[in-house]
Amino acid sequence: MSYFVCTNCEHESDIFGRGGGEKMAADLNIPFFGRIPIYQPIREGSDTGVPLMVSEPESPAARAFMTAAERVAAQVSIASYNRPTIPLTVVR
Ligand SMILES: [Zn+2]
Repeated sequence: MSYFVCTNCEHESDIFGRGGGEKMAADLNIPFFGRIPIYQPIREGSDTGVPLMVSEPESPAARAFMTAAERVAAQVSIASYNRPTIPLTVVR
């Protein structure tokens, strides 16, 4: 969780500061996938079994999850493309 989103006005508050995840990712030379907010409907949906992507798919928090998922998918694709292959030798 990265920042707090008010459910009344959608104001975002950086209650933990800002940029720490990005800096850590850069320091570790790993991809940064995104900032997921603290947003009450995420907890409510977790309790009721209705994911935010179903209950509020156009909300900023849902878009944050989608952005992170897209970045993970991109990295999986890159890793899959770059994986070493085992050379095959045809034996007759
Ligand atoms: Zn507010």
